[in-house]
Amino acid sequence: MRRIAFGRIAQESNSLSPVTTEFADFERTHLLQGDALLRACQPDGFEAPGFLRDAELSGFLRAVAARSGQIEAVPTLSAWAVPGGPIARATLENFKDRLTDQLRRAGPLDGVMLSLHGAMTATDTDEPEAEILAAVREAVPGARIAVSLDLHANLTPRKLEYIDVLAAYHTNPHRDHRKTGERAGAVLCDTLLGKIRPVSTWRSLPMVIGGGLTLDFLPPMLSVFWRLGSLERKVPGVLLANLFMSHLWLDTPELGWSVHVTTDGDRAQADRVADELADRLWAVRHKMPPDLPSADEAIAIARSARIRRKFGIVAMCDASDVVGAGAPGDRTELLDAALRRGKDLRWHMPIRDPDAIRALAEKSIGSRVSMAVGASLDPDRSRPVHVEGRLVRFDLTESFGRVAVLDLGHVQLVVTEGAALAMKPEFYLDRGLDPWQADVVVVKSFFPFRLYFARYIRKSIYVRTGGGTTDFDAWRQMSFARPTWPADPVQAWRPLDRARRAAWEAS
Ligand SMILES: [Zn+2]
Repeated sequence: MRRIAFGRIAQESNSLSPVTTEFADFERTHLLQGDALLRACQPDGFEAPGFLRDAELSGFLRAVAARSGQIEAVPTLSAWAVPGGPIARATLENFKDRLTDQLRRAGPLDGVMLSLHGAMTATDTDEPEAEILAAVREAVPGARIAVSLDLHANLTPRKLEYIDVLAAYHTNPHRDHRKTGERAGAVLCDTLLGKIRPVSTWRSLPMVIGGGLTLDFLPPMLSVFWRLGSLERKVPGVLLANLFMSHLWLDTPELGWSVHVTTDGDRAQADRVADELADRLWAVRHKMPPDLPSADEAIAIARSARIRRKFGIVAMCDASDVVGAGAPGDRTELLDAALRRGKDLRWHMPIRDPDAIRALAEKSIGSRVSMAVGASLDPDRSRPVHVEGRLVRFDLTESFGRVAVLDLGHVQLVVTEGAALAMKPEFYLDRGLDPWQADVVVVKSFFPFRLYFARYIRKSIYVRTGGGTTDFDAWRQMSFARPTWPADPVQAWRPLDRARRAAWEAS
């Protein structure tokens, strides 16, 4: 019988956001320990309520169950917060202590399965996940460490130093969380059972953007994702093949795309497959994401979509303030444009403003409101907007704190205390707002809203309000440790990759 501890400390950090992620943000989203974690990851459990029934750790338990009687899975800690600014140091220390404490008390362990994101930063380090992994290794020195990562993870030598088995999502938008945990778990289990001898290699690409929209069902990435999946399924000897596309809002000099491949004992095969995948990624670096309309252009597009509005809604994503990618959610450009120049349209919009919520908590329902909203969390990037209207509703929610609805005439404004993804119809329905009654519904998610709002949406518009924390061209404000496309006119990836890996292997 082999024993494997499993757990998660995960958040996608937007290092441009000034809003630090605290312990309470994890408590609001997902925090489980011990037997509660084990129960949540069983086939009849709910691993991440409100988000996913089965995620990575449920997948890991499936891999364990498929080897019945040979592996014991030991639950530790699972913590997950919605994307936001860097993790506070005290919160990081808290989680490291909890996790290592559980590992030390778990009894003899042969392995550890950890679900991490791979693009987490903390207030004082770009590598909190390397710190977590180092602490795990120190707590259980003999145990092999398997890790599942988001495909927007930033692979670095500091992380790889501690990772024995690595699996990342094979889909974008991500919908294979469970499968990813199962892939990592299967390789870890079979390694411990002596059935396979995994050897891994990686490639570090000097590029931070490319692949167009990078969605797995659209060219140019469609064929790359197809090849990625078939390598694992169909090529004998390939245990795991992963690609990583940069999280665009991770301001670290080490940022870049990468490839990681594991084979059963064949280093030369791993090198061949890694080179092939790296070449495929390098070939799509010229495909940039599309240029997006401004707020006024977006309003004009929505206005002209008369027939579509008649039969449904126009969904508008403020692409400069996507909470699902870690933005504060307090930008006001779109609200200002809707109030002044979108008067012929009916709007449902969210804005995050804890200060406004404190003021609104003092008011009674139905009372008149004349106040400034927005730009209270990130005042350097937008300005408060003055609104006049009525307070029509005030609720307390579990996932984003207190929430108020302001009737501003043609705009129904949902003001939230915490980070609200505003990607499901329930965000509005639960506030008494029916999306069918709106012309334009504003969301703070890049893609998932398209699935959740599918029956309402007749047109989707991505708006660039500019200068936010989730702009596609954020790389223009960053500096990199080595020449990096497209900031530098890099012609070939191999020399830079070789130099980086040589430095790593020598250390
Ligand atoms: Zn991702």
